[in-house]
Amino acid sequence: MNTKVVKIGQENIDQQLIEEAGAIIRAGGLVAFPTETVYGLGGDGLNRESSGKIYAAKGRPSDNPLIIHIADLSALPKIVRKIPVAAQKLAERFWPGPLTMIFEKADCVPYATTGGLETVAVRMPSNKIARALIEAAGGYIAAPSANLSGKPSPTEARYVIEDMDGRIDMIIDGGAADIGLESTIIDLTGETPVILRPGYITEEMLHNTIGSVETDKTILNGNSSQAPKAPGMKYRHYAPKGSLTIVEGQAETVTKYINEKIKRCAEDGSRTGVIATDETKESYFADCVKSVGSRQDEDAIAKHLFRILREFDDEDIQVIFAESFDDHGVGCAIMNRLLKAAGHQVIRL
Ligand code: AMP
Ligand code: MG
Repeated sequence: MNTKVVKIGQENIDQQLIEEAGAIIRAGGLVAFPTETVYGLGGDGLNRESSGKIYAAKGRPSDNPLIIHIADLSALPKIVRKIPVAAQKLAERFWPGPLTMIFEKADCVPYATTGGLETVAVRMPSNKIARALIEAAGGYIAAPSANLSGKPSPTEARYVIEDMDGRIDMIIDGGAADIGLESTIIDLTGETPVILRPGYITEEMLHNTIGSVETDKTILNGNSSQAPKAPGMKYRHYAPKGSLTIVEGQAETVTKYINEKIKRCAEDGSRTGVIATDETKESYFADCVKSVGSRQDEDAIAKHLFRILREFDDEDIQVIFAESFDDHGVGCAIMNRLLKAAGHQVIRL
């Protein structure tokens, strides 16, 4: 398949290109597009065959459900059985934005989109290109992240091209994603709302809007015997090709430990990398040292993490060490993604 790549600016949207992209989706094709979280791989969310194509293009297991993206609150009632009061409050406060809510699904939502579940995940993105595309495509775009299954989510169009060229109809390049981590997912189908995936909208922010919320215990704990409630959370994710280990402890002890390990790896002939911060990047002597940003700026760390994980692949790094981050607020989402990328390999000093 020939994949058409087009550039669209958020501030000056080319409506003709948007219509072309929307027509592809309405006809059952696939278009990758930018959102404020990461790039999405979009198909018609109410068309079973389109969802099938999304799974095939990603190489994604078909029990891992997709999120339906809407552009307007008036589109919600058609695809869900009921809208709980908490959902109404969260929509008013956080939509459009990086929050996905789980509802009981209406009959028109195919099981192919929900991975066989009776529930459906819905989000209203704030990115203007995404919103224009959703409208042009008929109102309901099912979209997981636009990466091959297992790889870090793409935060720039060049990574979408790397993974999806030849597999989908069109890629819209709309620049780098603002947030860089996927949406927060909250399940509103039970008695107490449960956070299934941490993201930019933190537990505290949700709590301040709707009161009691729980966080799925499996989010930061790789050894939990409990199965994660969000089906996708059980799969290997975000992993670079090299082996990744997170090292936790006091800054100086961590640097010393990582440098000793690097020395040994270099003796074995392995290429080494470190995920450092602006504060520490000069202290390491690995082949490839990358700063995710300053520890004072969690938003920057969130924004750069996936790009940096991919860059180690570009440089054929075999052994990677990462510093650890505080797991409060946005840090909870950063550590969740980093832990998954590391397959929960953590050294605690
Ligand atoms: P992605 O778009 O790649 O970030 O993946 C979407 C994720 O949303 C899936 O991996 C699931 O973890 C989650 N999700 C989607 N639909 C549901 C649902 N009905 N119930 C629970 N989790 C869901
Ligand atoms: Mg994904």
